[in-house]
Amino acid sequence: MTENEIKENLAKVLSDLADAAKASGRKPEDVRLCAVSKFHPLEEILAAVGAGQLLFGENRVQEAYSKFTELPGRVAAGQISGGQPELHIIGTLQLNKVKKAVEIASCIQSVDREEVLAEIEKRASALGKSIKVLFEMHTGEESKAGYADESVLYASLENCVKGAYPHVIPSGLMTMAPFTEDETLIRKSFITLRQLRDKISKDFSSLPMTELSMGMSGDYRIAVEEGSTMVRIGTAIFGPRVI
Ligand SMILES: *Cc1c(COP(=O)(O)O)cnc(C)c1O
Repeated sequence: MTENEIKENLAKVLSDLADAAKASGRKPEDVRLCAVSKFHPLEEILAAVGAGQLLFGENRVQEAYSKFTELPGRVAAGQISGGQPELHIIGTLQLNKVKKAVEIASCIQSVDREEVLAEIEKRASALGKSIKVLFEMHTGEESKAGYADESVLYASLENCVKGAYPHVIPSGLMTMAPFTEDETLIRKSFITLRQLRDKISKDFSSLPMTELSMGMSGDYRIAVEEGSTMVRIGTAIFGPRVI
């Protein structure tokens, strides 16, 4: 994609999101856009930063690390104004990738088991850094990622409340809807996530578990209608993945 195409795509996605928010009685600023730049080169990320987009998502740590350690210098050298870009890791994490993930990201959206949480704590503590996490939930038949069992998630949250992970800020839930044309199934997945978030907010009121990261290029409208606070959009901004 050219710089102009990325700019136009971003503007279109943002205006769609604002429309969807208003249509469901929500405020446009209550839905954040995470631009998913995986498989796209640094130049395209810079184009998005130039157009004012500062939050990015990547699913592979190695690829993210090489781009996002270089990005701040390139933003400064290009004298692109508007603030520092921020990275969220959105892909399933192997334990040996957690260290680098914690170094470069402000949030890890794909915590799917207690072991990952413990490793994030260990690495964040060593860096003297606090890091947000979202818990990924398995809400659709076809997606295999994420906590499948609510009681297992509850055990992790109980450990957070007990103070087992002082450098981890449990901030909400993330899910991927099933890959299907069936809007009813997609909506069902998003409703499941919202209801769980509402239940957790009551059961763990001391934790800031407010975020609902749901909605991608093909289903973000439905996600916003169902209460998404963050959509993760790649293809609709950057086009088909290229690297
Ligand atoms: C790739 C990816 C996205 C973005 O998908 P698009 O369909 O390109 O918008 C969102 N979330 C996760 C977890 C991803 O891996």
